[in-house]
Amino acid sequence: MAYDYDLFVIGAGSGGVRAARLAAMSGARVAVAEADRVGGTCVIRGCVPKKFMVYASEFSHAFEDARGFGWDVGETRFDWARFLARKDDEIARLSGIYTTNLQKAGADMIHARAILKDAHTIELEGKDQTVTADKILIATGGRVWRPDFPGAEFCITSDEAFHLKQLPKSILIAGGGYIAVEFAGIFAGLGVETTLVYRGPNILRGFDEDIRVHLADEMEKRGVRIILGSQHDKIEKTEHGLKSHLTHGQMPCTTDQVMLAVGRRAWTEGLGLEAAGVKTNEDGTVVVDDFSQTSQPNIWAIGDVTGRINLTPVAIREAVAFAETVFKNNPTTYDHDTVPTAVFSQPPVGTVGLSEADARKSLGQVDIYQTKFRPMKVTFQGRDERTFMKLVVCAKTDKVVGVHIVGPDAPEMIQLAAIAVKMGVTKAQWDTTTALHPTAAEELVTLREKYVPHELAAAG
Ligand SMILES: Cc1cc2nc3c(=O)[nH]c(=O)nc-3n(C[C@H](O)[C@H](O)[C@H](O)COP(=O)(O)OP(=O)(O)OC[C@H]3O[C@@H](n4cnc5c(N)ncnc54)[C@H](O)[C@@H]3O)c2cc1C
Repeated sequence: MAYDYDLFVIGAGSGGVRAARLAAMSGARVAVAEADRVGGTCVIRGCVPKKFMVYASEFSHAFEDARGFGWDVGETRFDWARFLARKDDEIARLSGIYTTNLQKAGADMIHARAILKDAHTIELEGKDQTVTADKILIATGGRVWRPDFPGAEFCITSDEAFHLKQLPKSILIAGGGYIAVEFAGIFAGLGVETTLVYRGPNILRGFDEDIRVHLADEMEKRGVRIILGSQHDKIEKTEHGLKSHLTHGQMPCTTDQVMLAVGRRAWTEGLGLEAAGVKTNEDGTVVVDDFSQTSQPNIWAIGDVTGRINLTPVAIREAVAFAETVFKNNPTTYDHDTVPTAVFSQPPVGTVGLSEADARKSLGQVDIYQTKFRPMKVTFQGRDERTFMKLVVCAKTDKVVGVHIVGPDAPEMIQLAAIAVKMGVTKAQWDTTTALHPTAAEELVTLREKYVPHELAAAG
């Protein structure tokens, strides 16, 4: 049977756009459907606008530092509306580049929600039209999940945080994952009285324990109030703002805004997966094999909708592996091991490989090397801020299996440390690296003493 397209991609986000371009450039007839704006979560309501907000908010610390270095800094004022307009211009420019790149590659861009009717037929919502394709790629990403409790409807999520008409004077952020932590830093840096409420014992579940403790301390030093072991019971709208009633005996807290950052879900609802014979997991993510192929052999899925590792570069690498396998006759899988990740908190976190706890579980004996110090810039200025660095080394093989940093430029350092860790560097090889002075990163290559926790040292 002749199909309208060789490949139909659903979703023009990080993964979908890359896969569509590569397939089209290999000569395939490709169409991409996008229900919203081209660029997806990363460009429109994720990594990119978030990083702009981080940059904007960091200036308050920079002004403070400048004074310490002898500058007279006059009165400073942040213009939220001006920032938002500039941010929106830049997002529009980037979204335009994505569209142009798709066009240049020869892919058809269709602005509509796509719904699968069967394994080869796609309905374009609102267009009264169906198209057929030999192969289909699901790249619909994820979307914000809203818990259901009385008053949840008054809350914003990260989607709305990028478009607030005005900056609140105070905000309560519910959640302890990276999005919650990043927005807490953003708002606090912009002068908003910020409270973070998380039901777990500490922020950033899944990260190395020492990183979690250190970051929470540093955030509190920068004025973020952190309430742990508690969550919303209900929210009341009062004349003074939104009154959050919290569990576990916490006093109610009234703020101008409440932001929910308590999770995201794969965007598979209403997509017609059942009609197409595509299986999903209980949490709604699409079941795929190592080649991103679904239970329906002519349909693949990549990116957040598969819930493997929800990061832009991962979606892109899965897209590349898909295009190589399906359109270049070069079966390729993407290795999800040792993926570096950052939290653009203030201070930021960079991490690659195993946490100490995970390394102990999977490898048995591990050696820890760690340091905590005040960076040069901070000591000069007199601020109380510490950088934390930790290496996790497999005692048996001497391989560096985890690197974890909290401090200025941690994400930049981790990107490069990730090369060595991915290559399987041993601690002995790591130690042959000459320090680059004066930097904070040099501390990472001069860690010689194994760390012995106080309680073990005391026990002899
Ligand atoms: C606030 C925030 C901050 C983030 N920060 C980072 C970061 O710093 N670094 C990082 O690596 N990752 C970050 N991420 C995660 C990153 O954005 C995602 O991992 C990445 O965008 C996933 O790409 P994707 O292609 O799977 O899906 P997406 O980029 O989400 O794209 C999916 C697209 O599909 C469209 N779509 C959905 N259903 C349909 C349909 N039926 N028909 C047509 N179109 C449809 C959607 O509108 C969307 O445009 C962040 C996410 C958020 C929310």
